[in-house]
Amino acid sequence: MSKLRSVKGMNDVLPEDAARWHRLESTFRELVGRYGFGEVRTPLVEPTDLFVRSIGEATDIVEKEMYTFEDKGEKSLTLRPEGTASAARAWIQHSVGGKHPVSKWFYLGPMYRRERPAKGRYRQFWQAGCEIYGDPGPYVDAELIDFVVRYLRALGIQDIEVLVNSLGAGGTRDRYRDALLEYLRPHASELSEDSQRRLERNPLRVLDSKAPQDQAIAENAPDILDHLDEESREHFETLKSALDDLGTPYRVEPRLVRGLDYYTRTLFEVRGRGGDLGANAALCGGGRYDNMIAELGGPATPAIGFAIGLDRLLLVMAETEPKPTLDGFLVVQAKELRGKALAIAQTLRDAGARVDADLRGGSMKSQFRRADKSSAPFALILGEREAAEGTVQVKELATGEQRELPIDQVAAAIIRD
Ligand code: AMP
Repeated sequence: MSKLRSVKGMNDVLPEDAARWHRLESTFRELVGRYGFGEVRTPLVEPTDLFVRSIGEATDIVEKEMYTFEDKGEKSLTLRPEGTASAARAWIQHSVGGKHPVSKWFYLGPMYRRERPAKGRYRQFWQAGCEIYGDPGPYVDAELIDFVVRYLRALGIQDIEVLVNSLGAGGTRDRYRDALLEYLRPHASELSEDSQRRLERNPLRVLDSKAPQDQAIAENAPDILDHLDEESREHFETLKSALDDLGTPYRVEPRLVRGLDYYTRTLFEVRGRGGDLGANAALCGGGRYDNMIAELGGPATPAIGFAIGLDRLLLVMAETEPKPTLDGFLVVQAKELRGKALAIAQTLRDAGARVDADLRGGSMKSQFRRADKSSAPFALILGEREAAEGTVQVKELATGEQRELPIDQVAAAIIRD
C-alpha cells in the first residue's frame, strides 16, 4: 500500500516547532493590540468571483495559482489565496463603514496558492496582515509601514530593506500604461512567453516578472513616478516625510508594482537580506487600494493593507530557546497509587501547573527516564508514605535536589513563567 503523505507544498507543524510559531503569532497579536486593530476571521473558502474581481484576471494568482473547485456543480469556490479580498468582502457585507468611519482590522491564517514549492514558497502558507478602511492617508500609510518594521525588529529580524513606490490615482495608471506599452512593444519578441501574452492586457506585469529577460528590459522602462497626478505626487512626498519623522528606513523603488491589480498610490514591500532564505526574499507586501471596495459593490472607501509571510519569517528569525512544555512529571512508587497520582495531577493543573504523568507502569528507573525526556524540570515522586500524609517529593532533575512538600504548596514551587 502506498504511504499517505501531506499534499505537496503543505507542511505539518509538529509540537517541537510550535513554540517558534507561537512567538510569531503572539508578538503580532500583542503589537496590533497596541495600535487598536481588531481581529477579523473569514472563511477559508470564498466565491471564485471575489478573487477574480479584486486581484485581477491577468495576474499569476488568478491565471494559474488558485485552488478552485465546483461545489457539487452549483457554484465555483476557491480556497483563499490572500486575505485582503476576503476582509473587504466581510467589511462590505456587514456594512461596517456605516458604523465606523475608520476601521482597523487584522487577520492571521493560512492562504493557498498552487505555486512551485521551494524553500519559503509553499502551497499552504501563513500570512498575518492588517487592513485600514476609511483613511485616505498618507500618514496612516507611513504608520503601517513603520508597524511592519517594528514587528520584524521585535522578532530580531534587523537585516531588511523597505521599498516604497506610488502607483498614483485617477489617470496615472492609464497614462503610465501607454508610456510603458510604447517602450515595451519594440521589445515584445524578447520578452518571456507570459509577458508577451500579457503585454497588451496588463503591461505593468512585465515589471513584476521574475524572468531574467523581462527584468533586463524592465531596467530601462519609463519611471511611474514621472507620470503621477499632482495629488498623488503630494501624497507620496508627505508619505516619505512622515517615514522620515518616524525614523523608518526606506528606499524609493519606481519598478515596484507587485503582482496584484488592485493597488493605487502607496505600494511597499519589505525584503529580508540574510538568513536561510537568501538575499532579497519578500517578507511583506502591501499597499493602498482606494478603488477596490467600490469595485466590489461597496461604498467608495479608501483602504490600505499589508500581508506578512510567516513561513518566511521563520526562516530568517533568530533561534528561539526551546521552553519546557511541562513544569512537573509524576513518578509513582506502587501500582495501587496510580489513581491517587491522577487526582494529584488534576489538583496541580487546577492550580495552574503544567503536569503530566505516565501511568503505564514500569520500574522507578524507567519512570525517571520518562521524566527526563518529558522536558519537565521537576519529578514529583509519590510513595505510600507521601500518599498517606498528603505530600510529594519534589525533585529538581537538573541538580538532584529534593524536598518534601504538602500538595497545596507544590504548584507554586514548580511553576516557572
Ligand atoms: P502577497 O500576498 O503576494 O503580496 O504576499 C505577501 C507575503 O506573503 C510575501 O511577501 C511572502 O512573504 C508571503 N508569501 C506569498 N506567497 C507565498 C508562498 N507561496 N509561500 C510562502 N509565503 C508566501
